[in-house]
Amino acid sequence: LPAIVRTRADLRAVLAGIPRPVGLVPTMGALHGGHRSLLERARRENATVVASLFVNPKQFNNAADLVAYPRTEARDLEMCAATGVDLVFMPAQDEIYPPGFETIVRVPMLGSKLEGEHRPGHFDGVATVVAILFTLAGAERAYFGQKDAQQLLVVRRMARDLGIATEVVACPTVRDPDGLAISSRNVRLTPAQRAAAPVLHRSLRAAEARWAAGERSGEALRAAMRAVLAAEPLADPEYVSVADPATLDELDRLTGAALLSMAVRFGEIRLIDNLPLG
Ligand code: AMP
Repeated sequence: LPAIVRTRADLRAVLAGIPRPVGLVPTMGALHGGHRSLLERARRENATVVASLFVNPKQFNNAADLVAYPRTEARDLEMCAATGVDLVFMPAQDEIYPPGFETIVRVPMLGSKLEGEHRPGHFDGVATVVAILFTLAGAERAYFGQKDAQQLLVVRRMARDLGIATEVVACPTVRDPDGLAISSRNVRLTPAQRAAAPVLHRSLRAAEARWAAGERSGEALRAAMRAVLAAEPLADPEYVSVADPATLDELDRLTGAALLSMAVRFGEIRLIDNLPLG
């Protein structure tokens, strides 16, 4: 069974002298098949696997979303045990953010586009907590999902800029059979919303098909995504994007790789998905 540690001091103590390399999988708990794929990959590639379970209040720009975020601690520990995790770091809030905490880690350019534009402060929260986790764990590698493509870019830039030697490993998006990217928030969808939610992936695939057929206009690809979303009455699109995969700037013309991405609301629930081209 994995060892459970709850304090910064215990994490440091347990990690001293542990077999290397160490692979870190940061999560907010409510573990699902997407997390499992990260844990399994970390298990294959490292001598020691550390999973962190911490619902990070600083990355929630919406208080109701934080309160409603699913918490499934017992099942999370079962998945960690089943995937061979060695160490689970489950800190209380004031262990990560002790009294007087005031430091903010900000990646202003990458963190302000797309998700950052619609969720102000979100990536400050992500970059800050991941900087703390990377510093505490001192892992050789850390595993993140392509599902959160912008998060991957922000975390990589943060680690490089701060001289943190942890290699950020990108893992493919895990989907349900109908194409819906697995997310902890999916369980909050009503049955009708859940039935409608694969429209994100369908619209990404429609744009990808246009691109494969030679379409290189960013606006045409955005229009292709919007058209598929518009046919689903329960889906309320927040943005659709065809962006440069390195800078996240919107593209007029595609001359190389691109990142298709979107955020779509179903009632209170906000889902994101993306698909890299090229
Ligand atoms: P979270 O617990 O939502 O913060 O996610 C923890 C990690 O799991 C992040 O690196 C996510 O990108 C990754 N993740 C979440 N959902 C998926 C998925 N469907 N496929 C692959 N990775 C995922």
